[in-house]
Amino acid sequence: MQFENVIGHSATKKHLIDLVQQNRLSHALLFLGKEGNGSLPMALAFAQYIVCTSAKSETPVQPALFGESENLTATKISDALDSCGHCPSCIKARQFIHPDIHFSFPVIPKKSGTPPVSDDYINEWREFISSFPYGNVFDWLQFLGAENKQGNITAEECNKINHKLSLKAFESSYKILIMWMPEFLGNSGNKLLKLIEEPPPDTIFIFVAQDENAILPTIISRTQLIKIPSYTDSEIEEALVKFSDASVDIASRIAGVSEGNYREALHLFQDSEQDWEETVREWLNVTLKQNISAQVRWIEKISQEGREKQKQFIKYFIHLLGQALRIRYFNEEKAGNTGIEIPKNIKDFALRINKICSFEAQEAIINELNNAIYYIERNAHPKMLFHALTIRLYHIIKDNSLILVN
Ligand SMILES: [Zn+2]
Repeated sequence: MQFENVIGHSATKKHLIDLVQQNRLSHALLFLGKEGNGSLPMALAFAQYIVCTSAKSETPVQPALFGESENLTATKISDALDSCGHCPSCIKARQFIHPDIHFSFPVIPKKSGTPPVSDDYINEWREFISSFPYGNVFDWLQFLGAENKQGNITAEECNKINHKLSLKAFESSYKILIMWMPEFLGNSGNKLLKLIEEPPPDTIFIFVAQDENAILPTIISRTQLIKIPSYTDSEIEEALVKFSDASVDIASRIAGVSEGNYREALHLFQDSEQDWEETVREWLNVTLKQNISAQVRWIEKISQEGREKQKQFIKYFIHLLGQALRIRYFNEEKAGNTGIEIPKNIKDFALRINKICSFEAQEAIINELNNAIYYIERNAHPKMLFHALTIRLYHIIKDNSLILVN
């Protein structure tokens, strides 16, 4: 994988390249970022950048990354901002078969009683990171058919890492170990401390993690922290349009509710045939017309959706109200900071909401909707919840009475 294939994160890419070019790279890095961001793809692209031979072809002997020799380091990476993508090293790295790029990740026992190591699942792993580089541990363990089994990075795996990295590099000047989710190491991680502290020459550790609090502090204190932010709405929107052929309308809608999580965005995209805009429209109509039997039918229908879908729907409504507020107050016709026009149907709808709702009413509705998400997450009875919400929606819009109460 090249940097150009990693969605967004341009500042992080530049930072990593700067670290290498300015000779400030540590032997052990911790890529830390929330689920659904580009931490793992970034580690894959960075490893390929380091082993790529073409970007450094001007220097026959590769000098060290770590500062033993200042002048040589400056020439080593030249000013390449990405791996070349076509040298033999890049081709192997892209297929995740480069002999100097090692992987370690949580696994489940293959046979009961035998502690598993990552190599037991290396083929599955290659397939997984090719297909779902933005996936999470749950996705990975399901991919392995783990069902309820817990993943683990075992003491045997740590022994294996110690052995692998004690060997000379095969083809590159560097040996790289990418460990995905060191949160699963447990205390076996202590077996790696010596290796991280006094690594064999030209060894690079890249830990890719989500939860700082679940990693051994002794590992954190020995690594250079690279914080990788969650995606912005515009990064998600652009990626959905570019890689999933989403329409701008759908991409913008999904970006608005996926909270910087590209994995979530992809799931939402798969469900995006669901027309939430129509559902909101219907809800407002049956509510404001006080058509009781239509209200009951609408509540029945939304109650039959799963909890996740109900949350998606409510988040979509909140997103729509947010767009309406932007148009009302800033006369902005662009969605967030995406620079992409708000699609016409959304804009028309937002303008209509602005006509029937005051600013205070919109805020009160957003507040009610956020409360509803809170209750859905705590297993509220859906019919009762949407029934109560319908009544409150009516009063907020019609007579502002609940705004005063709140
Ligand atoms: Zn290359």
